[in-house]
Amino acid sequence: MTGINRREMVVAAGGVAAAVALPGAARAADPNRKLGYAIVGLGTYGLKVIIPQFVNCTNSRLAAVVSGDPEKAKRVAAEHGLPDRAIYNYQNFDTIRDNPDVDIVYVCLPNSMHHDYVVRAAKAGKHVMCEKPMAISVAECESMIAACKKAGKKLMIGYRVHFEATNLEAMRLASSGAIGTRKYLRSEHGFVQPNPNMWRLKRALSGGGSLMDMGVYSLQAARYMTGEEPIAVYAHESTDKSDPRFQEVEDRIEWELEFPSGVIASCLSMYSANQNHILLMGDKGRIELEPATRYTGNKMWTGRDGRETEIANPPPGPRPTQFAGQLDHFAECIAQNKEPIVSGEEGLRDLRIVEAIYRSAREKKRITL
Ligand code: NAD
Repeated sequence: MTGINRREMVVAAGGVAAAVALPGAARAADPNRKLGYAIVGLGTYGLKVIIPQFVNCTNSRLAAVVSGDPEKAKRVAAEHGLPDRAIYNYQNFDTIRDNPDVDIVYVCLPNSMHHDYVVRAAKAGKHVMCEKPMAISVAECESMIAACKKAGKKLMIGYRVHFEATNLEAMRLASSGAIGTRKYLRSEHGFVQPNPNMWRLKRALSGGGSLMDMGVYSLQAARYMTGEEPIAVYAHESTDKSDPRFQEVEDRIEWELEFPSGVIASCLSMYSANQNHILLMGDKGRIELEPATRYTGNKMWTGRDGRETEIANPPPGPRPTQFAGQLDHFAECIAQNKEPIVSGEEGLRDLRIVEAIYRSAREKKRITL
C-alpha cells in the first residue's frame, strides 16, 4: 500500500485514532490538507486557465508542473512558490511516483497523448484528471480505465461545465418539468481555427477535427440536457478540402441523436465559424443558453411563446468558478472515496458516440448505438 493510499483511507475514515498507527501519520491525518495537483502540459489550458484557478479552490493546490520547456517550467514553478524538485519533464515524469506532495496528475496535453500520460500517472500511483476528449478512441479509453482500476486510482474527465452555475441550473430546470416533456435539442459549438499548423489540425495528435474539440460540448449538452443516452446517430460531414487547414481533419460535422423517449438532438461542431449555443425545447417551453459553455459570461433564458426571460442569477455553483469546482470535486472524491460525477466511464460513453458519428458520416447511414 502506498503512502497516498494510507492517507486517503485515513481521510476517508476521518480517524486520528486510525492514523496514529501509520508512519507519517501526523501529515496523513490532517483533514485540512489540500490535495496536490501536478499539471502536465503548460500550454494554453494548463498554464493560462487551470493553474490560475487554484486560488479559487478550497481543498486543491498546485504541487508540481510537467513540461518539455525547462525555462517555462522553472518560471511557472517560481511564480507559484514550487521548489525545483516539483518540476518534471516528459522523460523523468514517471519519477513523480516518489513525490508525496502530488496526489493527482492533471493531463492537459494534445488529445493523442492523453492515453499514455493517464496510464503512466496511474502506474506512478497517482489519481488522474484528464482533459476532454478523454482519448482518441474507445480502445484507449478502456485501457485508461483499466489502468486506473488496476492501480486502485480514480479517473476524472475535465468536463468543467458540470460545475458551471448556468449549466447546472439549465440541467435542473430541464429535469424539473419546467418546460414540460423534453422534445428537441439543438447545440452548435465552433470557433474559427486560425493556425493551419496547430496540433488540433493534425490527425495524429488530435484524433479528429472540430468534433474532437468543440463537438464534445454539443454532444455532452445533448446528454446532460436530456438526461438520456442516445440509441442511434446519423451524421453528415462537410469540409472544404481546398482549405489548407482541413487536409487531415474535418471542419464541419452535423449529427442527429435519437433518444429512447423520442427526443431528437441535432448537433453541430465546426472550425470555420464562432458559435456556442444550446437550445432545449419542451411541450411547455424552452431553455436556451448563449453563450452556453464559455469560461465566463454564459447566459440563459427560459419561458414560452416569445415570453422567455433571462435567468440572470442562477444559484451559484459549488465554487467561485467552474474550474475550481471541478478541481475540488475530484479532491473531495479522493478524500471521501467517492466516484467523480464525470468519471472515465463518462468520457468513454462520449467516445463511443464520437466513433459512431464518424462512422455514420463515412458510411452515410444511421448507426444504432
Ligand atoms: P496547447 O497547444 O495550448 O497546449 C498543449 C501543451 O502540450 C503545450 O504545453 C505543448 O508544449 C505540450 N505538448 C507536448 N507534446 C506536444 C506535441 N507533440 N505537440 C504539441 N504540443 C505538445 O493546447 P491546449 O489548448 O492547452 O489543449 C490541451 C488539452 O486541453 C486538449 O486535450 C484540449 O482538448 C483540452 N482543452 C480543454 C479545454 C476545456 O475547456 N476543458 C479548453 C482548452 C483545451
